[in-house]
Amino acid sequence: MDEFDCAVIGAGVVGLAVARALALRGREVIVLESEGAIGTGTSSRNSEVIHAGIYYPQGSLKAQLCVEGKQRLYAYAEDRGLPHRRCGKLIVATSEAQVGQLEAIAAKARANGVDDLVLLSRTQARAMEPALECLAALHSPSTGIVDSHALMLSLQGDLEHAGGVLALKSGVVGAECGGAGIVLKASDGTALRCNSVVNAAGLAAPLLARQFDGLPAAAVPGAWFAKGSYFTLAGRAPFSRLIYPVPEAAGLGVHLTLDLGGQAKFGPDVQWVASPDDLVVDPARGEGFYAEVRKYWPALPDGALVPGYAGIRPKISGPGDAAADFMIQGPAAHGVPGLVNLFGIESPGLTSSLAIGRFVGDLLS
Ligand SMILES: Cc1cc2nc3c(=O)[nH]c(=O)nc-3n(C[C@H](O)[C@H](O)[C@H](O)COP(=O)(O)OP(=O)(O)OC[C@H]3O[C@@H](n4cnc5c(N)ncnc54)[C@H](O)[C@@H]3O)c2cc1C
Repeated sequence: MDEFDCAVIGAGVVGLAVARALALRGREVIVLESEGAIGTGTSSRNSEVIHAGIYYPQGSLKAQLCVEGKQRLYAYAEDRGLPHRRCGKLIVATSEAQVGQLEAIAAKARANGVDDLVLLSRTQARAMEPALECLAALHSPSTGIVDSHALMLSLQGDLEHAGGVLALKSGVVGAECGGAGIVLKASDGTALRCNSVVNAAGLAAPLLARQFDGLPAAAVPGAWFAKGSYFTLAGRAPFSRLIYPVPEAAGLGVHLTLDLGGQAKFGPDVQWVASPDDLVVDPARGEGFYAEVRKYWPALPDGALVPGYAGIRPKISGPGDAAADFMIQGPAAHGVPGLVNLFGIESPGLTSSLAIGRFVGDLLS
């Protein structure tokens, strides 16, 4: 049987960041990816926003790792010359009730160490973004955008430079955790014995963990899938910053984000689906977007929204439940030496990726 010190299952942005962090600490690392390329999962189906760390409950992993990850990501992107832009965002209140919520959002952000938010009047906000309609807004100058594919390629480069290996078309179907080390079973029938295993399989992480003999079933959370569809704007973007409504229950509302080429897109919305493969955008959902977007951009022309793409949030809490935190389970949580499970790594997982790498490195050191 082949042996490796560490195996990371999944070559999304989080798996790659974890593998890089372990390799930079001198560990022998292999990344096992079921697809034929890196980053074909949720990591290529998101908004590519570097989140500031505003919305998450104080002390949560999301709050801590987003703020740390944002700082690490800007420093890394600058150091490596990765395409990114600190464009800033406006959170806009379009009703009197929402104006009151802006101060609560700013207070939550301050508790998370994000102390650069500025409350703007309608006039101040419209001086920054003349096409905007709102009653008041919060400006977040440290929000930005990043080229997620350039980031993942750079992480892969660092991993390989530090001696790590990427194995594509290498799906893992289960594991035996009882004896010396953890024995991973691959879809081609081969086995790999490892001292440490990180389950970074994204949407598949809970399902895969249920196939780990020796891992208590009670340690594995349920899996729910919340699809988010995007509609792109035909024509020039009317804004130079990201525009977010005051957040809804399961997502951040139908917001406007920009890519590094200046293309604007709206979304993602929230649609609970049964399958993690349900990725086709239903053009009919665009109808609901017009009313939401016109609350802050009344000039949105009829017919300007074109179906874009969809991503699926790897939820570990279901519809109507309180939003769950990232669940990063080390041996102290489940009792299996050398195993770390990453469950529920939804947004802000891209922003947090380098911090999650640092965190998992600490757990396994
Ligand atoms: C609609 C949407 C918008 C988002 N917007 C943002 C944003 O703007 N900013 C932000 O910070 N975050 C955002 N996120 C969150 C972010 O995209 C994710 O947190 C991040 O991409 C998760 O990366 P990952 O590596 O954990 O998962 P993935 O990218 O899904 O990677 C998992 C990998 O594991 C592989 N795999 C699965 N099963 C197996 C197996 N059995 N064996 C081997 N390999 C396997 C898959 O093929 C895949 O490559 C968004 C998410 C969604 C859904």
